[in-house]
Order: sequence, then structure tokens, then C-alpha cells
Amino acid sequence: MLLIKCPVCGVEGEECDFHYGGQAHIARPASTDPENISNEQQRDYLFMRHNPKGLHFERWRCDRGCGKWFHAARDTTTHEFKAYYGITELPPKQLMQQATGSWAEYFADKIK
Ligand SMILES: [Zn+2]
Repeated sequence: MLLIKCPVCGVEGEECDFHYGGQAHIARPASTDPENISNEQQRDYLFMRHNPKGLHFERWRCDRGCGKWFHAARDTTTHEFKAYYGITELPPKQLMQQATGSWAEYFADKIK
């Protein structure tokens, strides 16, 4: 059982009170013309996801409270939530520095 706290309205509950939205920080290929997006870019956007053992960054929706989406950092081995943060925000700098593998590559140029 996961215990989750919404960073927007403060509601706390079990995972059934929230909706899992998959991996966080997925960027749509940047183009206004779909013809300029390659098949590889479209494939990566739709299907390629990080699957780390350890620190992972996810999207969750507060179903029982405010209904807003938010981000959470969770350890996939212990299911412990490390942080909650806004849907347009990056995780705390400390967690970006702790990220490994493909997450470390993603955050490398975002850590200031
Ligand atoms: Zn909420």
C-alpha cells in the first residue's frame, strides 16, 4: 500500500485515492508540423520509458481531493515517496543529483 500526499491541497490517502499517470517529465517532440517528426521521435515519445530500480519520477492525480496532477519522486524498491512537487516543476535539486541511469542523463543539464 502506498501512502500519498497531494502537494496542492494537502489531502493524504492510499493509492486508490489517487490516479497513477506514468512517468513524469515526458516532453512532446518540439514541432508544429507533424511531418517534421521522425518515426523514432514519435516512438520514443509514445513508448520509451525509464524503468529504474530505485529513484523514479512519476505523475499522480489527486482523485479524492483537488483533482490536480502533480509529480512525485518515489523509490521503486521501498515504495517510499521522497518528494512531491508541482506538475510544471522539477524535483528538488538534491533528488536530481541522486538520480541514476537514464534519469541522471535527463537531469544533467537541468541541475544548476
Ligand atoms: Zn489535491
